[in-house]
Amino acid sequence: MIDLGNLTIEKAHASFKKGEFTCRELAEAYLKVIKEKNPEIHAYLEIYSDVLVQADEAQKKFKKGNATLMTGIPLAIKDNLLFEGHIASSGSKILEKYVATYNATAIKKLKDAGVVIIGRTNMDEFAMGVSTENSAYGVTKNPYDTTRVPGGSSGGSTTAVASNMALVALGTDTGGSCRQPASFCGVVGLKPTYGSVSRHGLTAMGSSLDVIGAIGKNISDVQTVFDFIKGKDNMDSTSISSDFYKKNIIQKPVIGIPRDFTKEGDDRVLANFKEVIKKIKALGYTVKDIELPNVKYTVPAYYIVTPAEISANLARFDGMRYGFSPESRNLVEVYTKSRGEGFGREVRRRILLGTYVLSHGYQDAYYNKANAVRRLIVDDYNKAFKKVDLILTPTTTGPAFKIGEKVNDPVKMYLEDIFTGPANMTGLPAISIPSGFVEEEGKHLPLGIQFIASHGREDLLFAVGKKFEAQN
Ligand code: GLN
Repeated sequence: MIDLGNLTIEKAHASFKKGEFTCRELAEAYLKVIKEKNPEIHAYLEIYSDVLVQADEAQKKFKKGNATLMTGIPLAIKDNLLFEGHIASSGSKILEKYVATYNATAIKKLKDAGVVIIGRTNMDEFAMGVSTENSAYGVTKNPYDTTRVPGGSSGGSTTAVASNMALVALGTDTGGSCRQPASFCGVVGLKPTYGSVSRHGLTAMGSSLDVIGAIGKNISDVQTVFDFIKGKDNMDSTSISSDFYKKNIIQKPVIGIPRDFTKEGDDRVLANFKEVIKKIKALGYTVKDIELPNVKYTVPAYYIVTPAEISANLARFDGMRYGFSPESRNLVEVYTKSRGEGFGREVRRRILLGTYVLSHGYQDAYYNKANAVRRLIVDDYNKAFKKVDLILTPTTTGPAFKIGEKVNDPVKMYLEDIFTGPANMTGLPAISIPSGFVEEEGKHLPLGIQFIASHGREDLLFAVGKKFEAQN
């Protein structure tokens, strides 16, 4: 029996090399757990039929001597990432039967490295949401308490990792979608620097914020995935060359705490956060109070900027070129039926909001104003990073909430992004790391903390994060 709960990429790699188990045996172990747990958790929308074929391909790399650290590693991918020949529906009915015609760059890199892609995971439709309740294919459940949400929008990828249905997973993060579910499910979620991972083959939501991230049980696994997927790509003009990561070494990073801002957390989160600060100090780090005066405007600005980008990005789904297109009598009906029936409520809401804030006469009042606010938020962080090397906050304002609790209140959903949204509005890298549990109704619910670094300083997130992880 392979101990999946304690398995890491490095351990799996060592075991492959020593012949303790084969790539096929490891894939079979995960498929067995999937069979047991997926019907209830609903992490996966589809398990690929060729998993064992992929595993045998990976095994050949070991034989030939061209295996990498990722060879044979079972990976789950979010449903908005294109994997050639496979459906990529973005959690939407409009793309229910859409088959990817090429590989996303991140997927290509991982496939070239020999990963075994197990399947595609559930998500909020087009990555809009914080609970996976906006998926057209049903909600995913939190493994710690199945009456609760797993977070979102990468809820499927996160629960796949948290319940040993994959060793690691790819998610995407536009406002918190790797970090918030990681926090709700007791795993690590990385949102890299904007541009560090190519967006080629990622179904766009908010193009100035979207980034592909990684989810794993520990920081080292997430770091490994990031190392394999990052880098310049000619197919994405916003992607950054690896040279950007060659930075000076900082021996003892100084950690900033935006005190006022962190008060947004509930009592349990704040108590946990206090403990975390104590532990950080005990590790020998200097902790400094910092001010981020405009960060409180992140959520309002985010919910103008992203709908604007969403309304533009989703215009391509017109019933002509992609996916769902019901019988219609004329051109207008093609549009109204395919978009009206193909998109869910939240997606339609955002398209309407986005179209409104970009419309003649309102663009200055909303969209341009929100972009100006975004600039102020960026300035706040730039100033803060002159004094400190990392910024520490809770990841979420509370533990996982109940399924259905917030579905009729979009603003409550949007407020979930308070701590995570700023890293997207600024393009900064951030990581969520498990920081403890709270007890509710006899269940242990995970909490997480978040480190944010300056652009390209993922190394600091990993280094300090690992110190914290080791003693937590
Ligand atoms: N909760 C945010 C939203 O709904 C972020 C989602 C995401 O990161 N994809 O827009």
